[in-house]
Amino acid sequence: MTAPKGNALPPFKNEPYADFREASNRKAMEEALAAVRADFGRERQLLIDGRYQRAAATFQSLNPSKPSEVIATHQKASAEQAAAAVEAADAYFAVWKKAPIADRAGMLLRLAAIVRNRKFEFDAWLVFEAGKSWPEAEADVCEAIDFCEYYARRALLLASPDPLPQLPGEKDEMRYIPLGAGVVIPPWNFPLAIMLGMTTAALVTGNTVVLKPSSDTPTIGSKFVEAVLEAGFPPKCINFVTGSGAEVGDTLVAHPKTRFVSFTGSKEVGLRINELAAQPRPGQLWIKRVVAEMGGKDAIIVDSEADVDAAAQGVLVSAFGYQGQKCSACSRAIVDEKVYDEFLEKLKAKAEALTVGPASDPANYMGPVINQRARQSILDYIEVGKSEGRLICGGSEASGEGYFIQPTVIADVDRGARIFREEIFGPVLAVTKARDFDHALELANDSEYGLTGAVYSHNAQKLEKARDEFHVGNLYLNRKCTGAMVGSHPFGGFNMSGTDSKAGGPDYLLQFVQAKSIGELAG
Ligand code: NAD
Repeated sequence: MTAPKGNALPPFKNEPYADFREASNRKAMEEALAAVRADFGRERQLLIDGRYQRAAATFQSLNPSKPSEVIATHQKASAEQAAAAVEAADAYFAVWKKAPIADRAGMLLRLAAIVRNRKFEFDAWLVFEAGKSWPEAEADVCEAIDFCEYYARRALLLASPDPLPQLPGEKDEMRYIPLGAGVVIPPWNFPLAIMLGMTTAALVTGNTVVLKPSSDTPTIGSKFVEAVLEAGFPPKCINFVTGSGAEVGDTLVAHPKTRFVSFTGSKEVGLRINELAAQPRPGQLWIKRVVAEMGGKDAIIVDSEADVDAAAQGVLVSAFGYQGQKCSACSRAIVDEKVYDEFLEKLKAKAEALTVGPASDPANYMGPVINQRARQSILDYIEVGKSEGRLICGGSEASGEGYFIQPTVIADVDRGARIFREEIFGPVLAVTKARDFDHALELANDSEYGLTGAVYSHNAQKLEKARDEFHVGNLYLNRKCTGAMVGSHPFGGFNMSGTDSKAGGPDYLLQFVQAKSIGELAG
C-alpha cells in the first residue's frame, strides 16, 4: 500500500458536497439514517495496545434531538487504562516511525476513499450524535476527506525537503522526523473533521496516537477508529480511550511518555492542558509540545458602504449555522450606525424564518444544541443578554424533546457587556452600533480572542485597512466568517484563540515533527 511521491499525485481538490435537493441523494441519506438508527445501542470498546477492551464503568451517548434515545454505550476508562494507552503508544512508536512515508500516505488516501464511499453513513452518525443538519454533517464529512487527501500530499512533500546550501567539502541535509506518542483531544463540534485532521496529521508524519474523543460524540470516534484500521493503519499506532475529560485527560497530558498534545476545545481546558503539560515529570526527557486551538468571539463588521442584504444573510448563516456552535461562528455583529436599523430589520426577518427541530428532518435549518448543560448555559446567557441589550428575536428555548433554542438576536449591546466578551457557543448574536468604520474595527478587535472575522464593505480602502488591522487568524471579506476550506483557508486563531496552527494549511504538519540537521564531511 504505497502512494506515489507528492508531486505525482493529482493536485488537491476539495471534496464536492452532496446536493440534498437531488432525489437520489435524499434517498441515500434517508437509507443511511435508517441503517444507522438500527445500529444504535451497541456497546463500544477502548482500543489499547492493539486490543479492544472494556472498563469497569460505562457511560451513554445520547441523541441531542431526542435525549431519550441512546446512541451507544461507551467505556469510562480508568486512569490506569489511560496510562497504559500512552505506554503502548510510546512502545509502538519505535516501529511505526520506521514505516515508509509512501506507505503511511497510502493508508491515509485509503482512509479518504473509505470515508468517501460511506459518506452518507458518516453524515447520519453526525446528524444523530452531534445534532448536525444534513448539509452541516455533509460539510464536516467532506472536510474530513479533504484533510486525508491534503495531509497525504503534504507529508510526501515534507519527506523530500528543499536541499540546503552545501558547505564546501560537506554533504548537508535536514530531515523531518516524528516526535513520539501524542495525545489527541478533539471537541464535539466537528466530531469527525477536527478529530480526523488532528489524528491523521500525527499518524502520517510517523507518530503514534492516543485519541480521547469528546464524551458527547464518542460513537463517531469509535466509527472513525474502525475506518482507520480498515485503511491498513496497524492497530497499535492508534489507541482509543473514552472517558471523563478531566480524569482521563489529566492522566494522558501529564504522563511522562506523552511527547505532544494536540488539543482543540475551549480556552479554559486548553490553558489548563498547557499548564499541566509544562510541568516535567520524573523520567520525562522532553519539553512537551502543545498545539491548542481554542475558542472565539468572532465579529462581522457591516460597513455603511455594504450590501446590507448580503451582510444580513452572511451574519445569519455565520451566527445560526449548526446552532452557533462553531468556533468560527459570528457572535458579534458590529454595524455602522448609518445602516444599523436597516440591517436589524433584515436580520430579524431572516432569523424569524429559520426552522428549529430534530436534525434528522431536513426541513429544519437548526437542530439542537449539544447537551443539557450547554442548553442551560446558553439560556442563562440569553437572560444576561436581555438585561444588557434589546431582544430583537428569539430569547428562549424552542419546543420539542431535544435541546432546542430559538435563534436569538440582542441589539444595542455595549462593548463591556458579557455577551459581547464571553464565548456563548450557541445561537445567540450580539449586535453593536459603531460610529464609523474605524470605530467598528476598534470594537471588533476589543476581544481576548482572535479567531475569525469578516467585513462587508464595497470600499477597497476599508477592506485594505481590515487586511492590515483586523487581528484574527482567519479574515473574510464580503462573505460569511464560517466554512473554512482545507487548502484555501488554513485555519487557526490568535491570542486566546490558540496557537494558530493553521489546520488544513501547508505548515500544519510541522507541529508533528522535529527537524534533524546532518552535516557530513565528504571523503
Ligand atoms: P472542551 O474544552 O470542553 O472539550 C474539548 C476536549 O477536551 C473534549 O474532548 C473534552 O473531553 C476534553 N477535556 C475536558 N477537560 C479536560 C482536561 N482537564 N484535560 C484534558 N482534556 C479535557 O470544548 P468542547 O465543548 O468540546 O468544544 C467547544 C470549544 O471548542 C469552543 O470553545 C470552541 O470555540 C472550541 N473550538 C475551537 C476550534 C478551533 O479551531 N480554534 C475548533 C472547534 C472548537
